Amino acid sequence: MTPQGRHRALVAVVVAALALAPLVLGKFGVSLLNDIGIGALVALGLVLLTGIGGATSFGQAAFVGIAAYASAWLTTAHGASPWLGLVFALALTGLAALAIGLLTLRLGGHFLPLSTIAWGLSIALLFGNVDAFGRHTGLSNVPPLRIGGWSLVEPHAIYYLIWTIVGLAFVFNRNLLQSRPGRAIRSLRGGAVLLASVGADAFRVRLTLFVLAALLAGLAGWLYAHMNRFVSPSPFDVRASIEYLLMAVGGGLGQLSGALAGAAVVLLLKNVLQDTLPLLTQRAGQLQAVAFAVLFILLLQYARGGLMGFVRRWTRGRFAAPEVETASFAGAEPLPRRSLPAAGAPILAVQGAVKRFGGLVAVDDVSFEIRAGEIVGLIGPNGAGKSTLFNLLTRTLPMSAGRIEFLGHDVSALSQRRLARLGMARTFQHVKLRPQMSLLDNVALGAHGRTRSGLLAAGLGLDGAEERRILAEAMRHLGRVGLAGREHELAGSLPLGTQRTLEIARALAADPVLLVLDEPAAGLRRQEKQALGELLRTLRGEGVTILIVEHDMDFVMKLVDRLVVMNFGAKLVEGAPAAVRADPRVQSAYLGGTA
Ligand code: ADP
Ligand code: MG
Repeated sequence: MTPQGRHRALVAVVVAALALAPLVLGKFGVSLLNDIGIGALVALGLVLLTGIGGATSFGQAAFVGIAAYASAWLTTAHGASPWLGLVFALALTGLAALAIGLLTLRLGGHFLPLSTIAWGLSIALLFGNVDAFGRHTGLSNVPPLRIGGWSLVEPHAIYYLIWTIVGLAFVFNRNLLQSRPGRAIRSLRGGAVLLASVGADAFRVRLTLFVLAALLAGLAGWLYAHMNRFVSPSPFDVRASIEYLLMAVGGGLGQLSGALAGAAVVLLLKNVLQDTLPLLTQRAGQLQAVAFAVLFILLLQYARGGLMGFVRRWTRGRFAAPEVETASFAGAEPLPRRSLPAAGAPILAVQGAVKRFGGLVAVDDVSFEIRAGEIVGLIGPNGAGKSTLFNLLTRTLPMSAGRIEFLGHDVSALSQRRLARLGMARTFQHVKLRPQMSLLDNVALGAHGRTRSGLLAAGLGLDGAEERRILAEAMRHLGRVGLAGREHELAGSLPLGTQRTLEIARALAADPVLLVLDEPAAGLRRQEKQALGELLRTLRGEGVTILIVEHDMDFVMKLVDRLVVMNFGAKLVEGAPAAVRADPRVQSAYLGGTA
């Protein structure tokens, strides 16, 4: 069987088992499956937010609670339909997440998870202290859901609604991850600089992801309220949040299916403990917490990948979702291209650029110009300030003083992201790739700034046409840098030199006017260097302008039209390669320097 076939067969078996389950299970079993479905929705949001996006939330149950209370209150106090309750619940949950996200998602390190505990606690406290919400007794007589004249009171009746929603949520999020916004989400871990360099705003991506995870929790909360027909504060407190996190971690943060597996394991275990512990002790409630704590610690020690990570290794990924087939986008129409300025037109002008790090002046009053169609080399001994200068002119670092013009715009105060969108693409001296993503996805990320599909279109699968064009573009650039046929390998498995080459392909996917390369040939073998030189010359022939830092003098001298030499942060000389090579100041800088 093909990998595609195996994966489809597995999904079909799971779907069929879930569809048939109520026919064989009693009320108790179906109720348990209902709880698992609702838990899986929340855990799905956590797999996305924490597992894929890298932001841990200890407060997710609060969003479940906001939605549950919102719908319960609207339907009991105002007699509204639960379907109106759904709209209201999701609107309120989304707004709450937006507000909390705007306030907290810029926090770094441990402060973000800590802040989730803070708002998780306070929202849960709020439920118990509002008269309209019945304080600690909660709201009862919440109406059941109705579809047409059919009331979903019985566990067997609401079962299919819950699992249809779970199924749709899985499909939506799986579509999402294999898309333009999904690649940005998967790139969140590892810092904002890479995202900005391809024209994406990491904060916005994280905020969107946070709201999406909250909305999944909101859906769960709405189902919970109308299934149990009663809401009270305790199911939405921090203890519940930790249980949801345990589901996501236990199931496996690396894949969406972990949410389902985790919800099943945690809730089944909870049931078993609830049945057995009272036989052993009178303090069953406390002991259950201890049992979960032990489980959590064991997981972190022995099975970081969670249950699905374990299954994946055990089955050697034979049932994993297959890669996109390259044939499916081979003939796609190319993405629209930028019009490049005529040869000789001014592209970049740096005037008096200064960068101070405390007392150290890393870039000291450097000025130079680049014209369209040139390859300009920036050389100088180690520590001369070349990378820092690159970071200034790509707006990766703020300047201490100076002015930068790009394509006639003053970009001295522009964000890195905006500048990237204007057509400046770069690579990094210390490569910034996403090691867990395929070569294809890493390069496709480069096209982020010139494409549009958003989260909703991607999740609903409406982005197909653009996505095929993006992937076809990425394939083309992989081919150009000599990585054709390796598109499904993981970037992290490449040797360092090849990773640099991959960064060039990513930069090319942005369709740049100016390509800024920081030591692209470092770590390449002789033949690979030759191939790189050929590629850069071809690009120049196509009208792309290139600025390159390189240590290999032979390579640079043969390649560039003009050289700028830096030493101790300042510009030492500028001119044609032969003249620079003959200049005594350059020779003494290199002999005296550490290079
Ligand atoms: P090059 O790329 O030419 O080797 P760099 O631009 O990396 O040189 O570094 C220039 C100088 O600035 C070095 O002395 C380096 O130690 C210093 N430097 C670079 N980045 C930082 C930083 N973030 N903070 C403090 N000093 C820095
Ligand atoms: Mg450097």
